[in-house]
Amino acid sequence: MLALGIEGTAHTIGVGIVDERCRVLANVYDMVKPEKGGIHPREAANHHAELAAPMIRRALDAAGVSADELDVVTFSQGPGLGPCLRTVATAARALSLSLGVPLVGVNHCVSHLEIGRGLFPECEDPALLYVSGGNTQVIAYARGRYRVFGETLDIGLGNMLDKFGRELGLPFPGGPRLEKLALEGGKLLPLPYSVKGMDVAFSGMLTAALALHRRGERLEDIAFSLQEVAFAMLTEVTERAMAHVGKDEVLLGGGVARNKRLQAMVGRMAEDRGARMFVPPGELCIDNGAMIAWTGLLMHRAGVRMALEDTLVDQRFRTDEVAVTWR
Ligand code: AMP
Ligand code: MG
Repeated sequence: MLALGIEGTAHTIGVGIVDERCRVLANVYDMVKPEKGGIHPREAANHHAELAAPMIRRALDAAGVSADELDVVTFSQGPGLGPCLRTVATAARALSLSLGVPLVGVNHCVSHLEIGRGLFPECEDPALLYVSGGNTQVIAYARGRYRVFGETLDIGLGNMLDKFGRELGLPFPGGPRLEKLALEGGKLLPLPYSVKGMDVAFSGMLTAALALHRRGERLEDIAFSLQEVAFAMLTEVTERAMAHVGKDEVLLGGGVARNKRLQAMVGRMAEDRGARMFVPPGELCIDNGAMIAWTGLLMHRAGVRMALEDTLVDQRFRTDEVAVTWR
């Protein structure tokens, strides 16, 4: 069985092709990089519209399969930016109709978890720490649903890092640049540690970090401190979720999961509690089409069928709205 998945919730359009054993045959993507300022939903959607057809062709070429070998077409149905979601849904509908194969809409957050389970067969029932640009959530399976045990109350961690980077004139995305700078830092500066119950908040930390910069603190030390404090918050909440629901596996997902310091902190926490950590390769941590293809394939195989009117996009598609019938 072959599934093609199109991801397009935000800045990245990605097309992936996977088979029924979660072998990734193709995973191509392209990210909008605004010259200045943040991501404009309309501009990102135009970018996705221009690239959808060529990326689908590139993915088919990379996989060495022809379009008529596809068994199911899948796409990111939400959550995300409305114009981007609609553009990608339109491309997926057109492809599915022209090939005469079923179409499955996939929850983006759920797919970050499923791709990890698919890639690591020994990772059966993890708590997912999902940290990307727009999303920051701790997700785990309980009674038929993926449930959110903790999440950001304001902005995603990646957005916080990117915004801080942008204010300082660093090129987009700021996250990886700050990781490099942090290696040259080492002085722990005071930043608000905002854990509220199981939830976290980052906008106060952004304001405080900018104030430290204005006070003349070294950028390297601010980057270091941002990582130490933000990652400690996430590690704390993830550990509590694992303890609460009795999970002994932790999976990382989202672009920020590429960060080596975050991996080290969560890995240390896992080790201390006799749990195991799994980190997908970078190109499957960020937003990508392969995870959408794989999750759609699981859903299709479990009998999920969607009429065209079921494929409307949902900007606020919640993780726990999805009935998980495939596990
Ligand atoms: P995603 O939204 O999952 O595609 O991930 C994009 C986000 O991941 C952006 O906000 C990036 O700044 C962030 N990111 C990517 N690599 C790193 C890294 N090494 N450290 C911190 N953040 C990162
Ligand atoms: Mg994502």
